[in-house]
Amino acid sequence: MSSALRYNTFEEITEIHARLSKAFRSGKTRPLAYRRQQLLQLARMIQENLPAIEEALLADLGKPKFETSVTDAGPLVGNALYAVEHLEEWAKPEKPKVDAWRSSWDTTIYYTPKGVVLIISPWNYPWVLTFNPMIGAIAAGCVVVLKPSELVPTCSQLMAELVPKYLDPDAYAIVNGGPAETTHILDLKWDHIFFTGGTKIGRIIAAAAGRSLTPVTLELGGKSPVVIDDGFDDLELAARRTLHGKVQNSGQLCVSPDYVLAPWDKVDALAEAFKKAYGEFFPDAEPLGANSDWGKIVNPNHHARLRGILERSKGEIVIGGQNDGDRRIAPTILKNVSADDSLLEEEIFGPILPIISVDSFDEAIQFISSRPSPLVIYAFTKSEEAKQKLLEQTDSGSLTLNDTFSQLIVHEAPFGGKGDSGCKSMATPALLTTVTDLACSDGGYNGKYTFDTFSYQRMYNNIPSEAEPFMAMRYRPYSGEAYKTMNNAAKANIPTA
Ligand code: NAD
Repeated sequence: MSSALRYNTFEEITEIHARLSKAFRSGKTRPLAYRRQQLLQLARMIQENLPAIEEALLADLGKPKFETSVTDAGPLVGNALYAVEHLEEWAKPEKPKVDAWRSSWDTTIYYTPKGVVLIISPWNYPWVLTFNPMIGAIAAGCVVVLKPSELVPTCSQLMAELVPKYLDPDAYAIVNGGPAETTHILDLKWDHIFFTGGTKIGRIIAAAAGRSLTPVTLELGGKSPVVIDDGFDDLELAARRTLHGKVQNSGQLCVSPDYVLAPWDKVDALAEAFKKAYGEFFPDAEPLGANSDWGKIVNPNHHARLRGILERSKGEIVIGGQNDGDRRIAPTILKNVSADDSLLEEEIFGPILPIISVDSFDEAIQFISSRPSPLVIYAFTKSEEAKQKLLEQTDSGSLTLNDTFSQLIVHEAPFGGKGDSGCKSMATPALLTTVTDLACSDGGYNGKYTFDTFSYQRMYNNIPSEAEPFMAMRYRPYSGEAYKTMNNAAKANIPTA
């Protein structure tokens, strides 16, 4: 199975945008019953078409069925049902605690849908990274245009066929295309743009969002390090858990361990531990070849890019190094890699893992904190002091101790990046100072956080006429007595420490 991807014309894109905007204005996506029904339809779409989704991922990425089920289809069905279960609670208006003198104002926060939203997704986990944000957007009552990646044509074409069959075409649509079509999409007016992809395109998206003052979520990539603490001795565990994270999707994963920082006196033992773990994961020695279930690199360009950085590397290969003519690269681990090596230039995004020797854990911290903030920092340590140093002296989207990859299943906490790896904060995010001055962001996603990303927290007050005698003191002409009362806040006692 492999199909050509039909790109939408500019006229179709404009028409889709107009159709969805009209549906949003009509209010049809607001009732919770409608949202619930569409979420159930999304779950059915994935469940009933699992064989076709597996085939599409096999055609585009050579992905084994096991991984499709664990990382793409399973989470989507689960997350859609989770959203249905929690929808009422998420959407419930909140009554914040207010100052006593304003207690009669009925202050309320309403979770209202942002409106017409655009979700742009990458190729590496095409299903989960397209539909997971969509679950939050449907739950929030938005209408949604999805723009999946043109680099996974079989998947994106299948999505174009399935979405109108299962979801209300007035409110949800797929648009397919490459950079030209996406540029046209970005010229239209959106109420939120949710982008998952690389930092380079993230800058383009943020700049476009900035021009129209559109809120934007950026879920980007970067070089996520693994640190081995000086006192951490279970190197077999560290190797097994790091290799497990590294081989997911052949290293084409935003939170893939990108490089390892290990104390120089542990490097050889760590390399041996990687060999042992590799032997256990790939008992048939060679993961390349016609019958291999080892995933492919997405296209010849990325395959050539990875071969290129590997050829230029001055590191010593411990495992792997081979590639084949069918877009595969064997899991490859190198040691004695220096900080200026080709493998340290940019996010590797493939099955190659360099080990860099450091003198100490402090040097590792220094190494990480002098580089752009990664999506995640992994560390193998049992030391509370090491944990505190990581929390206080480094920055990253998240911090995971003693494992890799497993933080992705924690849907009770927000996932996202910081700085060059994205933004998830409700306030002005650090990223915007590096990407664009204008875009506003309030992103981050996972469970309730995805719902919040696509919801606007609308403040409501109703100031009763009975409050007028007290309120009257604010009116002109200003009296000395009113000044005294109003000025009390400025005279509040300030503690010495
Ligand atoms: P990409 O940035 O190249 O493309 C992402 C999307 O942008 C695609 O839909 C593509 O069509 C579109 N696009 C491409 N060129 C464009 C242009 N000129 N203008 C507007 N849109 C354009 O990313 P990718 O190669 O598809 O994915 C890999 C990257 O995504 C890696 O850096 C990875 O770390 C990151 N990623 C991040 C997360 C996360 O959750 N933080 C998840 C997966 C992948």
